[in-house]
Amino acid sequence: MTEHDSKTVQKIHEELHSHLPSEPALRVKALESLLIEKNMVDPKTVDAWIEVYTEEIGPKCGGQIVARAWLDPQFKDRLLQDGSATIAELGFDGAHLTVVENTADRHNLIVCTLCSCYPTTVLGMPPNWYKMAAYRSRAVRDPRGVLAEFGVDLADDVAVQVWDSTSELRYLVLPQRPAGTEDWPEDRLARLVTRNAMIGTERDLTGRMKETG
Ligand code: FE
Repeated sequence: MTEHDSKTVQKIHEELHSHLPSEPALRVKALESLLIEKNMVDPKTVDAWIEVYTEEIGPKCGGQIVARAWLDPQFKDRLLQDGSATIAELGFDGAHLTVVENTADRHNLIVCTLCSCYPTTVLGMPPNWYKMAAYRSRAVRDPRGVLAEFGVDLADDVAVQVWDSTSELRYLVLPQRPAGTEDWPEDRLARLVTRNAMIGTERDLTGRMKETG
């Protein structure tokens, strides 16, 4: 085989890998197919759970928590002191949750370096990039570089704090409230808050103000 051929074969090999789902995803799919085939699970039930976690339990819950904190300073104080108990006040499951606040001179970024621990009960399903090795390793080593790739260019005088989640301790970022939203009702404020802002890969929500009208 010439060198040219072996390079071509290697390229095709890499291409194939890049188009295949990850091994855990394939295994889950195989298990799901078997369970359905043996009538042990109804595919409609699986779809319904995925729907609930992406649409209902999803970032909307986190958005409501953030909006309430923006409007009610006492709620916000309690939220930052005891995230779990305070989130439960709104009827959400906040077990093992700590809320960290972005300020003018501080930015928080959440990661799970070990696997993909995530505040599922208030943000729903984690995005794929959150589970990828590239994000998990670089968020700690080069948080400013990662943030820049998400379009967040932090000034040098803004400190970055990276929070490494575990199964016992998960984090939620309380983003800054954009100026000009002083007279907004709670539901509109909640719609302004994105999932990424609550993970810390988005910072300034001002650009979204028009979209929530
Ligand atoms: Fe994890």
